Amino acid sequence: MLKDQETTKKDHIRTVAYSAGMIVLIIFSGILLIGDFITDKFETLRLIVWMLTVSGGLFLFVRWHARTFAYVCPSCGAKFEITPFVDFISPQIPPNGKCLKCPDCQTRAWMREVSKN
Ligand SMILES: [Zn+2]
Repeated sequence: MLKDQETTKKDHIRTVAYSAGMIVLIIFSGILLIGDFITDKFETLRLIVWMLTVSGGLFLFVRWHARTFAYVCPSCGAKFEITPFVDFISPQIPPNGKCLKCPDCQTRAWMREVSKN
């Protein structure tokens, strides 16, 4: 049984801060590594390094999110965790929650996000 708590303001601030960090990483590493895209100095290797940097950052962010939050089904009340892959591909719209399929009742709905910490 998972212990769960309502998401707090601290959880939201952390999520926004990490999201902002990802945007900064994507933009600044993009400027540093592929800033010459417009000119003829563009190199494929730098594009690959940039894509690896962004992929790595995104992977760490999604893994953190999947490990930090669990979800509650509005139909049956089941609490469950999701994998980083499911976390990455499933839509999430605050304050509705995340659109997931309940592992207990098989209902697809907007699941309420709860903190695991
Ligand atoms: Zn359910």
